[in-house]
Amino acid sequence: MAPTMGARGGDRGDSELGVETEWTAVLIVKGLSVRYGRSVRALEDVDVELPDDAVLAVLGGNGAGKSTLLRAISGTLKLHRGAVTAGEITFEGERIDRLDPALVVRRGVVAVPEGRQVFARMTVEENLRAGGLGARDARARTAARERVRELFPVLAERASQRAGLLSGGEQQMLAIGRALMSGPKLLLLDEPSLGLAPQMVGRIGAIIKEIHDQGTAVVVVEQNATMALRVAQHAVALEVGRVALSGPAGALAESDEVQRLYLGGHAESEEQAAAEARAAEAHAVGRRLARWGS
Ligand code: ATP
Repeated sequence: MAPTMGARGGDRGDSELGVETEWTAVLIVKGLSVRYGRSVRALEDVDVELPDDAVLAVLGGNGAGKSTLLRAISGTLKLHRGAVTAGEITFEGERIDRLDPALVVRRGVVAVPEGRQVFARMTVEENLRAGGLGARDARARTAARERVRELFPVLAERASQRAGLLSGGEQQMLAIGRALMSGPKLLLLDEPSLGLAPQMVGRIGAIIKEIHDQGTAVVVVEQNATMALRVAQHAVALEVGRVALSGPAGALAESDEVQRLYLGGHAESEEQAAAEARAAEAHAVGRRLARWGS
């Protein structure tokens, strides 16, 4: 059993603040083991819970099993020749670990895989329209379109441009925007900050917060623990396919182990964190001003 810090998902009882804590987990991963082929054991007996309406950060080094966890949740393991060998995944009380990816999307769980993977030759608008095919109906599609326009004004400006010509950060926004077009209840983000400059990482962090504020739960896999722990309420750290730590994001951020393993604690990462925080704040202020202006 992995060590947990502070109040934990599903617990009843007093938190450190003396407040009754109880929540219903939207997503429950229980005893999950995954293999690729016969020999690669990527996950072993993993338990993860995502409370209602929350952001969960999944931390871990290279090869820890972070992407595998997202693939298992989104039902895409088969595409990578992987398979669940034990355990189960439930979403809103129903098992999803045996569903095809399209059915998982229909349940409201939508993934943005690592590396952005926009349709490079298609325009921004066409990419978004492709995402909208998963929407419930025309009304839901229109609402989602409006939400994406609000969240990412830059995508509206570039609507007729080929997606492959966008900057890395803009492509990440497009990938997230495309996923939002189907109106997900739970968004799975795999390394959204990978390869982006600190300023853009800050903006992506602010966008994740905003998506969550609008009522969508998020699981964000990140090697950039600073950003992930800033936007998440809950966190889990994987090590070699097992849960090493789990608990409230704030408690994890302050733990010596997370500081040492994932936050570095050296000057460069502090500088980077400050740059990301400044960018996130500038983004938030810009959006407040845009709202007043509209
Ligand atoms: P990274 O940050 O490097 O992407 P990760 O934490 O996301 O790492 P995974 O990609 O989930 O880790 O990989 C977990 C383990 O499974 C690793 O040992 C990896 O080599 C292995 N693995 C991942 N995908 C495959 C695959 N398609 N076939 C075989 N082994 C795989």
